Amino acid sequence: MKFPAFAYVAPTTVAEALAALADDDDARPLAGGQTLLPILALRMSTPTCLVDLNGIDALKQITLGEDAVTVGAMVTHAGNAASAIHREHVPLLSEAVPFVAHDAVRNRGTIGGSIAYADTAAEMPLVALALDATLIIAGAGGERRVAAEDFFLGHYTTAIGDGELLTAIEFPLSTRRWAFEEVARRPGDFALVMAATGARIDNGRLVDVRIALGCIADRPVRARAAEAFLEGQAIAPATLGEAARLATADLRSHGDIHASADYRRDVGARLVARALNRICGATT
Ligand code: FAD
Repeated sequence: MKFPAFAYVAPTTVAEALAALADDDDARPLAGGQTLLPILALRMSTPTCLVDLNGIDALKQITLGEDAVTVGAMVTHAGNAASAIHREHVPLLSEAVPFVAHDAVRNRGTIGGSIAYADTAAEMPLVALALDATLIIAGAGGERRVAAEDFFLGHYTTAIGDGELLTAIEFPLSTRRWAFEEVARRPGDFALVMAATGARIDNGRLVDVRIALGCIADRPVRARAAEAFLEGQAIAPATLGEAARLATADLRSHGDIHASADYRRDVGARLVARALNRICGATT
């Protein structure tokens, strides 16, 4: 199908983009277009104006700071995959981003578009939650910073308000070992379930444990009971197995045409086990 008619503006600064969004209540930001354009073609959305962010160079930077790596919203998945800064300081992002779609989509699709769209089956929202990222949002009232924990509100729903733009994602410099695991029908498909685990290993014990799951609820979730159980524990197969079981035991998972809720809980636990074993295996 052809797109519905819409006006098109191509700002070169964030201020111009915000002004264009403020001018028209039905305007929508256009990033890589890998999700938005198919939605328009299917007439699932009919915005009156597209505000194309591709000409805003300030949104395309990856910056290494003292405490964090700041990734502009318009950095593409391919740009993140190629980043040496990420490999050293945000290794979970480097490991997860090749699971996003295929080269053609990764060349155009952006981290900002992916996080703003908040598909529960998308990798970047899970990475943002697991890493305690801060989402930087610009609007008429200035800039605000939202913790990933408070940003994802449900299926396709985030803390970004009308007329606002996600401008950057700030990732704290990594101090943990990380592992990412995913099951999808075919390489490049959206995930059926995915898990990210992180920890430091101190004298054979796991500390600062982080376990997060994606595509298992209406937003990426932390497995807090499993994290608390593992904290300070010595590495042992039975302990890791129990943590993996706890990770999905109390989760209210969702079933859909792709996988049942039980499948997601069962496979989610297995992915957590695999990811924990990878982190710990590297020390033995
Ligand atoms: P767009 O499509 O341009 O925008 C998406 C939405 O976000 C729109 O509503 C737009 O208005 C809004 N938006 C965009 N940028 C901003 C911003 N800075 N501030 C506020 N709102 C904004 N993704 C995965 O994670 N995993 C996959 O396996 C995967 N497989 C795919 C397979 C195919 C065949 C295709 C076509 C896409 C796939 N995707 C997958 C989606 C892909 O990652 C997209 O890049 C991503 O979902 C949207 O990013 P985008 O830059 O293309 O955003």
